[in-house]
Amino acid sequence: MTEKTQTPQKADRRAIFFEMTRSLCPICKRVVDADVLLKDDKVYMHKFCPEHGMFDSLIYSDAGLYTSYLKYNKPGTLPLHFAGEVKKGCPEDCGLCPEHKQHTCLAIMEITDACNLACPVCLADAQGHHFLSLEQVSRMLDAYVKAEGNPDVIQISGGEPTLHPQLFEILALAKAKGINVVQLNTNGIRIAQDDAFLNRLAEIKPALYLQFDGLTPEVYLQIRGADLLELKMKSIERLAAKGISVVLAVTVVHGVNDQQVGAIAKLAVEHPGIRGVFFQPVTYVGRHGQQNPLERITIPDVLKGIESQTAGWLRLTDFIPVPCPYPTCMSITYVHYDGQEVRPLPRVINVDHYLDYLQNRIVSSLSPITQASLEGLWSSSATPGSEKTGSSYACACGIPLDVFKGIEKEITMIGIHAMMDVHTFDVKRARKCCVHQLSPEGKLIPFCVYNNLRRGC
Ligand code: SF4
Ligand code: SF4
Ligand code: SF4
Repeated sequence: MTEKTQTPQKADRRAIFFEMTRSLCPICKRVVDADVLLKDDKVYMHKFCPEHGMFDSLIYSDAGLYTSYLKYNKPGTLPLHFAGEVKKGCPEDCGLCPEHKQHTCLAIMEITDACNLACPVCLADAQGHHFLSLEQVSRMLDAYVKAEGNPDVIQISGGEPTLHPQLFEILALAKAKGINVVQLNTNGIRIAQDDAFLNRLAEIKPALYLQFDGLTPEVYLQIRGADLLELKMKSIERLAAKGISVVLAVTVVHGVNDQQVGAIAKLAVEHPGIRGVFFQPVTYVGRHGQQNPLERITIPDVLKGIESQTAGWLRLTDFIPVPCPYPTCMSITYVHYDGQEVRPLPRVINVDHYLDYLQNRIVSSLSPITQASLEGLWSSSATPGSEKTGSSYACACGIPLDVFKGIEKEITMIGIHAMMDVHTFDVKRARKCCVHQLSPEGKLIPFCVYNNLRRGC
């Protein structure tokens, strides 16, 4: 009797191959090809380094959102000047180089590497004693003006910039160079403790970005290495009393404060002194050591957390990607709250319609004024609490000019900005980045490129 031979069965792959990009080897940081794969309704990156092998990482925890968000991809704008040239290829030529797809919406300038905290998650690994001189700051600002003409926004950062002995001169210099909005990024320690400092700050009134991670002491002990809750609440009250608009900057860490994102969003909307909150899923850069790249917080986790933890007071569908960078980098919404009812702007206007760049080039019924106003709001340069943000909001809603005055104090921006680390780095996002580090040499370097490839090198 002859034995029956079995025909071998071909197996299907478990993942859908969605696209190919380039990333970094998490060990040696060389640039390597990477597949973007959809699996179990999540998005993963799969890459191979000839020296260190295969790597997989989670990059977005909702495949449906990831693919549907790609329509929010606005054509870029050229800067006036490129300080770099194309030589080695992306991402080695930053400066910006002429192949970059977007100008600078927001420049970040680190004026010191010193800090009065030692946070275990510090992406700058701030522990130095160096302060930029006023002359150097002036040269850097000139480079920014050369690239942008009238730059919209600069964020003064560090280290802890409030330790810089010439901070007030730097804030004034940025204004004098014609930069429209000056933001100050701080941990809030001097604001809570130093009356004279706060009084001087109140004369300049920069837009203040306050590091604020949660509503319990344990969160600060884990993320910042010290119980700072009381100090943070005191900073908010003292800033509000001086009429300085506050935006909370929240580092979201899996298993530490991801259950507080709803309460923080509610605090931001309900507190009259807070104009915005930015959630930043933690990135494994700088001092933050190696973690499991398959278990991380991504933008959809924060959106779903806000929806479930506020019992639908705010919803995932209230948020729309920001179209000036790559659309999976940031999602935001604007909320009007009158003490009773919460009204996110996308429930009032069909924002989606205006910011869908695959469709809206062929729809002629869209109002150009509404379009421009919404683009002003859904931009990395939009600063919560600024007059410009207020007027864009009023124009988008068709509120008459004589009624809109001061409306910026009634609205709150809520955003999520997911910066990249070696596990999630995607060259196509870097290539359209509009948030740029202004380096001491006067180069503008996409912030995620700077953090992963230039910092400390
Ligand atoms: S990230 Fe942009 S500036 Fe940097 S090398 Fe690539 S295209 Fe050029
Ligand atoms: S995260 Fe900010 S506050 Fe913390 S050590 Fe770094 S620079 Fe200082
Ligand atoms: S800094 Fe990173 S996450 Fe933010 S816009 Fe640029 S590339 Fe995207």
